[in-house]
Amino acid sequence: MADSTHIALPLKYRPMTFDDVVGQEHVVRTLRHAIEAGRVANAYLFIGPRGIGKTTLSRIFAKALNCQNPKGVEPCGGCVNCREIAAGRSLDVTELDAASHNKVEDVRPIIESVEFKPATSKYKIYIIDECHMLSNAAWNALLKTLEEPPPHARFIFATTEGDKVLPTIISRCQRFDLRRIQTNDIVSRLKHVCECEGITAEEDALLAIARGAEGGMRDALSSLDQLISFRGDRVTEEDALGIFGLVSRAALENLANAILSGDTAAILSSIEMFDSSGKNMRRIAGELLQHFRNLVVVQALGPKAKSLTATPEQVKTLVEQAGRVSAARVFRVCDQIAEMEDRLRYVLSVRTLIEMSLIRASRIATTATVEELMKAVQELRGQMASLPPGQVAERPQREPSAPPQREPSAPSAPVAPSAPPRCETPPPASEPPRAAPVDARRQAILDDAKLNSILSAMPGATITDIKEP
Ligand SMILES: [Zn+2]
Repeated sequence: MADSTHIALPLKYRPMTFDDVVGQEHVVRTLRHAIEAGRVANAYLFIGPRGIGKTTLSRIFAKALNCQNPKGVEPCGGCVNCREIAAGRSLDVTELDAASHNKVEDVRPIIESVEFKPATSKYKIYIIDECHMLSNAAWNALLKTLEEPPPHARFIFATTEGDKVLPTIISRCQRFDLRRIQTNDIVSRLKHVCECEGITAEEDALLAIARGAEGGMRDALSSLDQLISFRGDRVTEEDALGIFGLVSRAALENLANAILSGDTAAILSSIEMFDSSGKNMRRIAGELLQHFRNLVVVQALGPKAKSLTATPEQVKTLVEQAGRVSAARVFRVCDQIAEMEDRLRYVLSVRTLIEMSLIRASRIATTATVEELMKAVQELRGQMASLPPGQVAERPQREPSAPPQREPSAPSAPVAPSAPPRCETPPPASEPPRAAPVDARRQAILDDAKLNSILSAMPGATITDIKEP
């Protein structure tokens, strides 16, 4: 299928309109609105990791601004301006790659040409990529133009390192932080591409590609392209895992299972298997953390939560695992793995740290938390309190308070004033029992038993006659 006319997938499936852009809805919405409302700023700054569509978005925006027949706010893609911008030869749209052109001489043509009106379009647009690489002298030369740009000039800066851009520049731009694209968004885009290209790909293969691309659509499409050239029109998970050094979804989920069930042997043998097959151990730690993070999301918000980054297959496993362990424990496991991931950066023996940390995580997953113990104690107290009168129920330890009052409807209860208050209902949930010496507690139970026998011997007096104050 690869022939002389083969166009690389990232290029072929590059978004052409705002609608095509995946995973940057927050930016697209604002840009569309700016065009609709006729409130286009003079300068924009797109910040985000590589391969997530900064340059693509800049070009779409430039086309939308200069298109001769826009459909609403979308560029038509067919007019001269759209075609010339797409081909990179529009007279009114200048692109500068500051990674290789960062000197004052490189920005001088911009400063000189900006005053002239656009040749065939509405705006003169300057797209400066990797703008953090511009030298200070180059920025200073540009600054004057940015402060008072001619009304027809628009600047779009893009960078992977926003914190290296001078504050004086940032303050003159509308700043947008582009996000890494979510794994499931990448998977659905890859699925679409495979359909268009007539490629059969396992879902887990696409997931592996998306995981390997770490939020970058361009990298994901390149990898798919590479796999297709390597394997033809059938793409399997095994091939995809091979090129990234990743572990399979099933292997990762098995490791999570071993942690949740406290299976030390399974944890150690998983790690042994990953290590001996040359997998990237730091990477596995990151992915495991992502898995447990997803578990927290499923437990807190359910399997349809928007913030869940998982494919339908993964969600099935997550739901099953989320039902087995309490949220408090999963949260603590997550904490433990996050700490491990953090420490991995500084240790030499990665494998040992991972082994020890995951065994500790498995202990956490199988040990009751204080909250769980408290809940169990409360339940137990509730059950004891609901035992029929005459059976011994534990007396709660309380602060001494107002003396017990006799109910007006119970005139005959001579023991009441001196008797300790009886508790018929479960005690308030907020107050944990205070530790009392064993002898004192035993005495309290005996007192209760004595009181019960006295009361049952008295006609007309029942245990409910004496109420809590
Ligand atoms: Zn057009």
